[in-house]
Amino acid sequence: MSTKIPHRLYLSEDEIPQAWYNLRADMKEQPDPMITPNGDLVKEEDLYPVFCKKLAHQELDGETRYTPIPEEIQEVYKVYRPSPLCRAYNLERALGTPAKIYYKFEGNNTSGSHKLNSALAQAYYAKEEGLKGVTTETGAGQWGTALAESTSYFGLDLIVYMVKVSYEQKPFRKAVMETFDARVIASPSDTTNVGRAILAADPNNSGSLGVAISEAVEVAVTTEGYRYVLGSVLNQVLLHQSVIGLEAYAAMEKLGVYPDVVIGCAGGGSNLGGLIAPFMRDKITGKTPDLRIVAVEPASCPSFTRGKYAYDFCDTGKMTPLAKMYTLGCGFKPSANHAGGLRYHGMSPILSKLYHDGYMEAIAVEQTAVFEAAKQFAQLETILPAPESAHAIKGAIDEALRCKETGEDKTILFGLTGTGYFDMTAYAQFNDGTMSDYIPTDADLAASLADLPQV
Ligand SMILES: *Cc1c(COP(=O)(O)O)cnc(C)c1O
Repeated sequence: MSTKIPHRLYLSEDEIPQAWYNLRADMKEQPDPMITPNGDLVKEEDLYPVFCKKLAHQELDGETRYTPIPEEIQEVYKVYRPSPLCRAYNLERALGTPAKIYYKFEGNNTSGSHKLNSALAQAYYAKEEGLKGVTTETGAGQWGTALAESTSYFGLDLIVYMVKVSYEQKPFRKAVMETFDARVIASPSDTTNVGRAILAADPNNSGSLGVAISEAVEVAVTTEGYRYVLGSVLNQVLLHQSVIGLEAYAAMEKLGVYPDVVIGCAGGGSNLGGLIAPFMRDKITGKTPDLRIVAVEPASCPSFTRGKYAYDFCDTGKMTPLAKMYTLGCGFKPSANHAGGLRYHGMSPILSKLYHDGYMEAIAVEQTAVFEAAKQFAQLETILPAPESAHAIKGAIDEALRCKETGEDKTILFGLTGTGYFDMTAYAQFNDGTMSDYIPTDADLAASLADLPQV
């Protein structure tokens, strides 16, 4: 054990985890099962038209504790992993806190985010099953990019439905995906029944994530050899993202340290679920009962802090089965905030259950405060954070400032999910003082929650 903790600790290639960890296997109670709108339990075979078989199995498997990571996936993980565990010495000094701040940085790949960890797995299993291609939607762009990297690597076709307004406003994201040979279609489009119906009624429709999901699912289930893939929320995605937490755990063990608080941003819950997995295991099994785990979400899309724990559709088009989760209602329209990757109406069913049972805390933070934290972090730590990631930074800074007041030298670990180079419009608005903080009213939330399915 070193006496001086390095600024960045990289595990060696051999220390990359060889199995993903399934937190459900250690939960005292399982998350409520996925059901159909009629209330029937969803069986593995029911998912086959949408997901490839091994992923459908991972989705419903709450028992298998460790799933070996196929060698082909380990080979690509080695290209950009292990990701570093960093000690934020400069930030600690600037804050004048006795707290020790660590972060796990996942931005070191073309998507600039953790999403590649699951995209590779999903593309690999699709290829292994002999499929021709996959479809997906993209909102913020990181998921589409991560998937494009993965499908090009494993030799699959990819069709990305990109919300039309993003397609027009963010041409560089489209260019990156096309560099990896993805076919990017502005949604709504004339390539699907859903899209054609919407365009017939409203030719100038600028699209939404819900519509893009509906188009991607329609193409997947009606095209021979295609399946649909999703970048967050699902149990399978949290399983793949456990690689983040397992690496962080091993690195901290090497340093002889253990966190008092683990903090992550929460959109659909995949990075947070992955980061906390082995730490939450310790908490659940009684090894570290006092460990605190904190989700940070945008005040503009506050699923945990103001949502309802209920069965809801996973998409706006109401095509998916129902999941029990913290939700704002599948018709909730978040304001156009800049943390695009956190603008989802629901939350991972695994994290929802843990939060509901009191194993986790959640806080909501406002956009301008998040960008203040992002700017401070960028200036001190030489990484320009993604706006999504900056929610976790804000949570960590606030925690460190509380330690300054109380004199506690807590160890804080947070997830730095990615870089923000595609979000410069947002940074520009923050810098010139035109960024606003919209928070939905109780009436806004009541309206979308009134539409929850009755089951
Ligand atoms: C997508 C994304 C998120 C949020 O997604 P989760 O599934 O909640 O992790 C966070 N950070 C970045 C950089 C993202 O791209």
